Amino acid sequence: MVSVLTTQPLDRPLDYLAPEGGVADGAFVMVPLGPRQVLGVVWGRGLGGFDLKKARRIHAVLPVPPMREEMRDFLTRAGDYTLTSMPAMLRLATRAPGLTNPPSMQKVYRLGEGEPDRMTDARSRVLAVLEEFGGLAFTLKELSDAAGVTSSVIKGLVKQGAVFEENTPRDLPFPRLDPALPGKTLSEAQQAASDTLREGINSGRYGTTLLRGITGSGKTEVYLEAVAACLAKGRQAMVLLPEIALSAEFLSRVEKRFGARPAEWHSGVTMTERRRTWKMVAEGGAQLVVGARSALFLPYRDLGLIVVDEEHDSSYKQEDGVLYNARDMAVLRASLAGAQVVLASATPSLESWVNAQAGKYRRLDLKSRFGSAALPEMRAIDMRAEDMPKGRWISPRLQSEVMKRVENGEQALLFLNRRGYAPVTLCRACGDQIECPQCDARMVEHRFLKRLMCHQCGESMPIPETCPKCEAEGTLSAVGPGVERLTEEATELFPEARIATLSSDLFASARALKQAVETIATGGADIIVGTQLVAKGHNFPLLTLVGVIDADLGLHGSDMRAAEKTFQLMRQVAGRAGRAEKPGEALMQTFQPEHPVIRAILSGDEEEFWNAEAESRAQAGMPPFGRMAGIILSSERAEEAFEAGTMLARHDGPIRQAGAVVYGPAPAPIARIRGWHRVRMLVKAPKGVALQRAVSDWIGGVRLPKTLRLSVDIDPQSFY
Ligand SMILES: [Zn+2]
Ligand SMILES: [Zn+2]
Repeated sequence: MVSVLTTQPLDRPLDYLAPEGGVADGAFVMVPLGPRQVLGVVWGRGLGGFDLKKARRIHAVLPVPPMREEMRDFLTRAGDYTLTSMPAMLRLATRAPGLTNPPSMQKVYRLGEGEPDRMTDARSRVLAVLEEFGGLAFTLKELSDAAGVTSSVIKGLVKQGAVFEENTPRDLPFPRLDPALPGKTLSEAQQAASDTLREGINSGRYGTTLLRGITGSGKTEVYLEAVAACLAKGRQAMVLLPEIALSAEFLSRVEKRFGARPAEWHSGVTMTERRRTWKMVAEGGAQLVVGARSALFLPYRDLGLIVVDEEHDSSYKQEDGVLYNARDMAVLRASLAGAQVVLASATPSLESWVNAQAGKYRRLDLKSRFGSAALPEMRAIDMRAEDMPKGRWISPRLQSEVMKRVENGEQALLFLNRRGYAPVTLCRACGDQIECPQCDARMVEHRFLKRLMCHQCGESMPIPETCPKCEAEGTLSAVGPGVERLTEEATELFPEARIATLSSDLFASARALKQAVETIATGGADIIVGTQLVAKGHNFPLLTLVGVIDADLGLHGSDMRAAEKTFQLMRQVAGRAGRAEKPGEALMQTFQPEHPVIRAILSGDEEEFWNAEAESRAQAGMPPFGRMAGIILSSERAEEAFEAGTMLARHDGPIRQAGAVVYGPAPAPIARIRGWHRVRMLVKAPKGVALQRAVSDWIGGVRLPKTLRLSVDIDPQSFY
């Protein structure tokens, strides 16, 4: 009799009879549950306590390596930490379709070398999909779905040699990466940092290093040396990246360094490749995985290194379903696996900075920029002193600086972290602002798409000609700038210049975006108008000026991380300028040049900023100096959510006994999303309190209506 944890939403593992010949702990199995067969993992010995004759038997043991004890331990601890049920944790660890299929042959399709006799729209879509995914193989169905064509179009291309059809065993190992190939020549600082990381790898023990280096200092080369050391020891490595769009550039760097491409794991990977990666990671047929945060839950056979690149990036916090922070889970997983963690960033999170200060993490600083480039000079443009015409956002001073760059044949970037044309659409007759019918959020005008869109739920509508409230005609006007409106202004101010707009919603695919970036990087534009998208890793060697339109934008609001986020973003954006031979300059338009965050950004004294920020959080008992849990109660009826909150607040015994405090209920900053009313509570506790236990005792002790949704966010990153 064994106990089996299934992916079904049950509160505990169930007992089953082992199959003939027994079954190992950790084995992946199919078990009967009611009328169905469901996926599960043997979790240990059965608990018994019921009539043995009623016990059902394990239906099948899957032909994949059993889940290792370290992985079971990781899932249990991660589930305890995030207050997530074990079935939900197991679902994270088995997100590969077709695990139950037997090993067999299959037909796959790759890009061929021939040219089709004539190009049709459907044919070019097939080839575009194959090109976008490099050398990856697709099944017929995946390819026809991805390209939106019938299978006969693909068969036609096969006949002409433009597409290769191959019969391969399912799930081949990945090509071997060779860590002995020579890497790039390292600077002295890079060499020293890479030596330290190698030492860590060679110790075979757990350890976390914060690898801090300004943009362009060559962090990637350094941590690729750690990857090389890890592979040379025969252990597996994983590199987490925040944005899929960037991975193409990164993959070719890996290929140059190690002679072959690594396994990939992210939402853009085909189902066939996903299953292959999962299995090969388990069998040791994949040495290196490059992926998004969920790659943490792959079944590594012997994990020796986790790199979290851009560790401060907010996309590492999963804000849907299981709420976890991939950076923290990477540290947990590595500590159980005896692996090293490298947290790389130009602008680390306050949490990591504090851990390094406290000696929990090793810290390595790469100071000099690699090659000849220097960090740009940063200056403020005091907007109180600028003479701004109505409806304009580019100050006369910024305008003349941009003009100089354009005349010199250099590039300038105008940065505004706001998508769309205008954040607010206002009726001049009745004063109404158009809001999303589902959410407590304003509709944002997207003029390129000719629609109003809700950035919370994605709801969109054509731009109305009359006011939806008072029905006056022609009274709607755009208030405030978005990146599209900024493009319009730039087009008027610089009629001779070639202007490109980079905003995530303007590109249909990662491939289209990548092409646009490449065109711009090689001089295809004089002025780039962009959102946060441009702050992340793209290289524009001709760029010598960054103009930040509204440096104050992130400083408002109730978010405790507002200062930290603004500081990071401004540093990253400024870092885009002057990456090649020419020095760069960054100009920040601000109405409050004396604000401590703006001053810290301009002075470039990061240590001073982090010290001050750490000090103010410590005084307020905020993370990382105290602990927090966010509770969101949502219901289709506002009263129900509030009543539940009040009830929870009244029965806060377990929280108080633990030495923690409950705040709320209060309307969440976004009080309604997709028609659901949202009420927020916050639990604050001193460091060292067993917060998770207190929260689960507390919530478990209150009977809440079934129509209410409750989610707990341990260590919340943002409040919305
Ligand atoms: Zn109106
Ligand atoms: Zn909405």
